[in-house]
Amino acid sequence: MIFTVSQLKDYLRCPQLSYYAHELRRVPIVDSTAQGVGSIFHGLMALRMKGELGNNWSSGPIWSSTSQASRDAFCKHRLWIPASFYKIEPQWELIQVEQALTSSVISLQGRPDSIIKYNGKFWSLQWKTYTNDLPSLLDKVKLSFHEVAYEHLGRQNGFEPWGGIILGACQKLPAYRMSSDRRTKTPVTDPDRVAVFTTHYLTRSLELTAYLTGNLERLLERMERDWVHQLRNTDQCFGPFGGSRCPYFEVCHGGQSIESDTFKTAEPRY
Ligand code: SF4
Repeated sequence: MIFTVSQLKDYLRCPQLSYYAHELRRVPIVDSTAQGVGSIFHGLMALRMKGELGNNWSSGPIWSSTSQASRDAFCKHRLWIPASFYKIEPQWELIQVEQALTSSVISLQGRPDSIIKYNGKFWSLQWKTYTNDLPSLLDKVKLSFHEVAYEHLGRQNGFEPWGGIILGACQKLPAYRMSSDRRTKTPVTDPDRVAVFTTHYLTRSLELTAYLTGNLERLLERMERDWVHQLRNTDQCFGPFGGSRCPYFEVCHGGQSIESDTFKTAEPRY
């Protein structure tokens, strides 16, 4: 079996959830707002990289497949402004955009946002929106299963030498900023929004890469061995902090069919 990183991440949360979402590809009709905003932003940047971003960006398939709440949040932060005015480095040579790569040594498939050639090396180009705490975002991306997988898949598919990750990180700004004494508020301008879309070149040591890749490999082996059992991690039924209910709760514990109209059949997720 060939797995994806999203499948593994969901598997580690709850194997049954991963089975519903990735094997049956049944996902809740209502997506998470943050995820929806990220998907729209990714879609726009993919079009920018291909030189295809026009004025009709809000009528494409990604826009229509996300929830109204996600679209509203995207508009609230005016994210099309930084997406349209982000300065793409002229020395980046675009090799591929959103193409699936498969490994011949581990059961893994992934789809980097883009692969870029820059400074004689190949890089995974990644877009992220965030609210605050940029340093944590950089560490999170550097250690993420997805990026470890992209490096492995990139090298496996001949993209050598590998450079690392180029991260375009775009902060989601509110409409106003409060002064430090919290007495006055200043409107956030469009140039402010463009200025907080920044580029970061992230690299890992060979030792860290080897460790993280080995880790990923072992986890994939474990998933492959246990996939058929559809184990249930009932400790996750109310979310990692006990404050939410898993969208599949009624299927697992209330007799609801996974084919009911609470769910839709989704495209494969990487
Ligand atoms: S309801 Fe619980 S057991 Fe069922 S998929 Fe969700 S987390 Fe897993």
